[in-house]
Amino acid sequence: MPRKNRRAPDEYAPPPAPPRPQADAPVWALVPGTEVRRMASEKPYRCPGCDLEVRPGVWHFVVVPEDAPDERRHWHEGCWRVELNRTRGKGRAFDL
Ligand SMILES: [Zn+2]
Repeated sequence: MPRKNRRAPDEYAPPPAPPRPQADAPVWALVPGTEVRRMASEKPYRCPGCDLEVRPGVWHFVVVPEDAPDERRHWHEGCWRVELNRTRGKGRAFDL
């Protein structure tokens, strides 16, 4: 016989988190000398990792080299992870 231990639908439902346009990036995504933030924007961007569009409203990383603020790039989270693995493999020390 199935046990009836399901909660009432809205008993513990937390209020939906307000949308935040920006947030701190997780530790694995951080690179020394580079500002990395998570954000969801209203505009599409071109991801340099896969050359596809980062769609509006999708959480992704904004990567800004501190010594070249004009080089701001918007990366899919997965693409940034791949890029970090790739560049680490080439011997750049990211100290993570
Ligand atoms: Zn991508």
